[in-house]
Amino acid sequence: MIYIHIPFCHRKCTYCAFYSKPLASTTEARLTAAAYVDALVDEMRRRRDEQAHPIHTIYIGGGTPSLLPLGQMARVVGALRKCFDLSQLEEATIECNPEDLTQEYLLGLKDIGLFNRLSIGLQSLDDEMLHLIGRRHTAQQAVEAVERAYSVGFHNISVDFMYGLPQMSQLPAFDFRLVNHVSAYALTVEEGTALAVQVRQGRVSLPSDDELVRQYYAMREHLAKAGFEQYEVSNYCRPGYHSRHNSRYWNRTPYLGLGAAAHSFDGSRRRWNVADVKQYIATQAFEEETLTDRDAYNELLMTALRTTAGLSLADVPERCRSDFRRKMQRYVDCGWIKLSTPHSPHYTLFQPTAEGLLHADGMAADLFEM
Ligand code: SF4
Repeated sequence: MIYIHIPFCHRKCTYCAFYSKPLASTTEARLTAAAYVDALVDEMRRRRDEQAHPIHTIYIGGGTPSLLPLGQMARVVGALRKCFDLSQLEEATIECNPEDLTQEYLLGLKDIGLFNRLSIGLQSLDDEMLHLIGRRHTAQQAVEAVERAYSVGFHNISVDFMYGLPQMSQLPAFDFRLVNHVSAYALTVEEGTALAVQVRQGRVSLPSDDELVRQYYAMREHLAKAGFEQYEVSNYCRPGYHSRHNSRYWNRTPYLGLGAAAHSFDGSRRRWNVADVKQYIATQAFEEETLTDRDAYNELLMTALRTTAGLSLADVPERCRSDFRRKMQRYVDCGWIKLSTPHSPHYTLFQPTAEGLLHADGMAADLFEM
């Protein structure tokens, strides 16, 4: 699997802690994008042998990939086709912002031919809220972008919504019939963001923890009524439409991450490229670390306990099993974990309930091997 990071945005949303660089003008966007794509293509050529197997999923994320001019996107895709075996590709996703999805851009993406899945960042359908969190689109543009994408032939669409927004009182009044996947994230305040400053200065107030939990259940129920099943703490899909790419991350499948700030994993080592566009273009610097068995187990806990699939006893190293069983029993007793034994006691499954998913991070921390 391959992840490509396009680290540009029109401007920074107030809550965003992802690495992305706001581009001041169309000219700057054009010049920087061209130099960045040169570096990206170069990285693909140099690292092509790290993915000797056929690629099953590709994800182009950001930043705002839909800010990349179509000509540059075609170059990225052309290099992917040249450098990697895509004969077994199942899913190729591109993240888009609604304001970029003109008819012309969507038709251009169709012509490029690789993408069979769009992930569109709607976040809210309340104009006041969109403005407050620094999004550039309106609710109407969001709805029209999804309709337009569907009408040009993208029928595998995921949309992002947020809950826990300031003064949020209503669920998005959205017609979910055109989409088959929804990511619903709780707004979190990350240090170093404009939102963190606004909250500290009392200019923005966020819902209480109890209200956040109420909104989580309300969103879950709202999506269930529309035919979506939760499969991860923030992800819902119609049957068969889970994100294959993200599900592979959670299974700890090795992946190649290309571009500034992109991470890679080869099964035992993690590598992260420099989070700076200029430095990436000039040096393609990166750092890496080799995971210990303990790191690998702790990572497994952090990801598996956020999914409804959970984990099986067979996934837990022998040395941790008695501690794992003892602590898990408490979570079974309080209703956060449900147990099943589909094959044999050895394959006992520990699956978070809807309530357990809310406590995934705490449970994982409790189970960590120190
Ligand atoms: S568009 Fe996405 S990546 Fe860019 S600033 Fe907003 S949330 Fe962050």
